[in-house]
Formats: sequence, structure tokens, C-alpha cells
Amino acid sequence: MNTHELWQAVLGELELTLSKANFTTWFKNTSIASFESDRVIISVPNTFTKAWLEKKYNAAILKSLQTLNGNTALRHVVYKVDVRPQMKMPTQESFQVAAVGGTDTQTLTREDSLTSAKRSTVGDTMLNPKYTFETFIVGKGNELAHAAAIAVAENPGTKYNPLFIYGGVGLGKTHLAQAIGNEVVRRVPSSKILYVTCEKFINEFIQAVKQNRGKEFKDTYRNVDLLLIDDIQFLTGRDGTQEEFFHTFNTLHQNNKQVVLTSDRPPQQIPALEHRLISRFQMGMTADISSPDFETRIAILETKCKERNYELEPDIVRHIATVVQSNVRELEGALNKIIAYHQFKNTKPSLEGAKSLLSSFAPSQSKKNVSAKQIVNTVSSYFDVSVADMVGKCREKRLAFPRQIIMYLMREEMQSSYPSIGHELGGRDHTTAMHAYSKISREVETSPKLRQDIDLIKQRLYNA
Ligand code: ADP
Ligand code: MG
Repeated sequence: MNTHELWQAVLGELELTLSKANFTTWFKNTSIASFESDRVIISVPNTFTKAWLEKKYNAAILKSLQTLNGNTALRHVVYKVDVRPQMKMPTQESFQVAAVGGTDTQTLTREDSLTSAKRSTVGDTMLNPKYTFETFIVGKGNELAHAAAIAVAENPGTKYNPLFIYGGVGLGKTHLAQAIGNEVVRRVPSSKILYVTCEKFINEFIQAVKQNRGKEFKDTYRNVDLLLIDDIQFLTGRDGTQEEFFHTFNTLHQNNKQVVLTSDRPPQQIPALEHRLISRFQMGMTADISSPDFETRIAILETKCKERNYELEPDIVRHIATVVQSNVRELEGALNKIIAYHQFKNTKPSLEGAKSLLSSFAPSQSKKNVSAKQIVNTVSSYFDVSVADMVGKCREKRLAFPRQIIMYLMREEMQSSYPSIGHELGGRDHTTAMHAYSKISREVETSPKLRQDIDLIKQRLYNA
């Protein structure tokens, strides 16, 4: 294995343990610069990445290098900032995506792939023509964010400014943000649109300061009609980027230019984010995306099959939608696995074949293994109340609500009878359990916040 192959293998391992956003953010444009007996030097694109890899991923990288290389003498990983030509401050025109539209559209692809480090200038525009509203499936988990995104695309700068979309990994935040960009450019082809990841914004700012190109940076970011910044939760640095972003934001906002931000969490939960930015982010509209429900998962799978001209038996579609619950990216991953198998073996997998192909997607514990006690414990700790209070007599609202969620989950996840649910919760009447179940079921339909709470509780329950 040469060093390039070794590094690709290390990346392959790391990719499995990280979210895609994290992985692309921290490992894009990294490589092995040199390899000696006891140390490896990794070349990284900037100091920001260097600090982060040293702090967060050093142990995992070292371990992975040792095992993959079979080299026990290896002791140190050193990170060296290497400014290669393609990482320099991009030129003015590569920032703008006004070129989107017409025949150019076909050649635009967003560069996520680590292997093809060489990017064309057009590719640098970063809007992926594939991410449109037409290809976005709307379900309960994302309807609010979708509606807000449409409103913004139709009336940029006037309706909701900024639009702040947040939700877990792989749920379509990037897709929606880019769909806004693609739609705005379709309506008004001369619009100046800029899509960047937060990491890129930070890198470019740092480079601009270093190279005395502050004015150019400002001109670029402050003269657009629509600024889309993806994964803004990374804007936590103390190096002046928050300050710079604050002024960029104010300038755009005052001029009625639209800003769209995405994040994996709501503004107030972004660590080390300055208060004045939190309040700016909350000025417009905040919309969350939660995991797709079963029907939506089916609809997404069917659409993805159609897009790829691939026919899949309904029972296999249902099976995928049953085992893959958390996010859309995994749904696509499962589908890709099936298609790859088909191409490779030249035969369609049977339902049984599909089941074993997808066994790695199944939750680690099957649902029936969850006990009443686990549900009580998990919900109590989620809401920070004591187990004793949950089974106790007190009917305070603070306690009644988590208690109702426990009853709801016992019914949903364990198919427990109402009398036995009442019994588990300190000998309550079965009508109380029935009431709780129907109340929470109803609220789940209308409250994205509650749906998110329940999703998170289930995640803890099954991944504990
Ligand atoms: P995030 O940015 O939230 O991590 P992405 O926008 O990258 O997620 O979505 C992951 C993948 O799932 C993309 O290929 C995207 O097209 C697809 N996807 C997500 N949500 C939907 C949806 N509602 N309909 C169709 N495809 C979706
Ligand atoms: Mg994303």
C-alpha cells in the first residue's frame, strides 16, 4: 500500500464513524505528506483544520494508521498546514453562481468527493443542480422548513430573513438550502448567489486577512442577492470570523438581501456563538427538520428509484423503510447497496437477500427488547426528572408530561396493554394510560418539537 492508498483507507474508516458534514469539513484536502518509521506527517489545508484534528481526531487517526499499516512503531501524527494552489483565495468569478442556468447547469456538480481534489472553476460555484424543490419529498418532518424555503425562494430578502434551517444529519438541510439557490436563479438568472459551507467562509476569511485581501473578501460576500451558508454551527471561532460574519449579515440584511443558514441545532444551542449573532439568527424564521416518518420514507425511496430508473419490489421498499429510520442519506445508502449488489451479481436480490444485505442498518437492539424500566429511565433522564417522581402520585405539569410520554412509548414501542402501563407507573388506572396515549399521539402530529423530543428519546433508547 502506498501512502495515498493508506490515507484513503484511513479516511474510509473514519468516514464510517462521523457525520458526512463533519467528515467533509475536517478531512477534505488532507493527505499524507511523509511517512517515517515512527511518525506520519499529515498535510492539512489550514490551521483551523490542524487544531481540530489534533484535538479531536488524533487518537482515532493514529490508531487507524497503526492497524491499517501494521506498524506498531508508529507513535506520532504531525499535522502540517500546506497551502496548495487550489486552496488559495478563489478569484472573484468563482464565487458567483450566476453561471447556473442554461447549458452550463449540466456541468455543475458540487464537489463532495475527497478523491477528486482538482476542481474546475465552475464546480467551485458549489450549487448542485440536482438539489431542487422538484426532487425534494415533503413529509411531516420537513413540511415547515420546505414551506419556508419556498416562500424565501419566491420573495428573497423580504419574507423571512434570515431563514434558519436546522436538523440532524442527512435530513435534507443542504438539499433545501441549495434548492432555494437553484430556484432563485431559475426565476431571475442574473441574481448573484453565493453558497458556501461555513468552513469555507472561515478559511477564506482567514486567508483574506493573511494576504491583505480583506476588501476583496468583503466585496465578495456583501454584494450578493442571496447568501447561503451551510453548517453555520461551525462558526464558533474567536479569530474574528464571528465579527466579520456579523457585519456581513448586517449589510445584507439592511439591503434586503436574503440570508439562508443551516445548522445541526437551533441558534441558541450553538456553543460559543456570540449573543448578538444568536439574536440575529432568530430575527427571521427558524424551521426544523426531523426524521421522516414511515410514509415519507417510502415516498422518498420510490422517488429515488424512479430517478435512477430502477425498479424495486414493494416488499423490499417497505423493508428498507422499516429498518432505516433515522435519515434520508442512509435511505439512499441502503438503496445504493441493493443496486450495487444487483449490478455486481447481475441478479435482483430477493427479500431475504435484501434483508441480509441491509442487516448493518438494523437498529442494534430490536424493538421488543426494550423494557418498561428502560423507557422510564430514558425518559426521566431526558427530562431531568427522577424515576421516583415518574411513578409517584404528584400530578404537577412538569411531571405529568414526561409521564405521558412514557405511557405513549410503552404503547408504541412495546405494544403494552393499557392496564399494564398503568401498573408500571405506580398503579395508575388504565383510562389514564389511554388518555395519555391518545393525547401524545395527537400532539405528535402537530408539534415538530414534540416529534423531535420523541425521536431523540428513541435514539437514546435504542442506541444505549
Ligand atoms: P443534511 O445537509 O441535512 O445533512 P442533505 O441535504 O445532504 O442532508 O441530504 C442527504 C441526502 O438525502 C441528499 O442526497 C438529499 O438529496 C437527500 N434528501 C434529504 N431529504 C430529502 C427529501 N425530503 N427528499 C428527497 N431527498 C432528500
Ligand atoms: Mg448538509
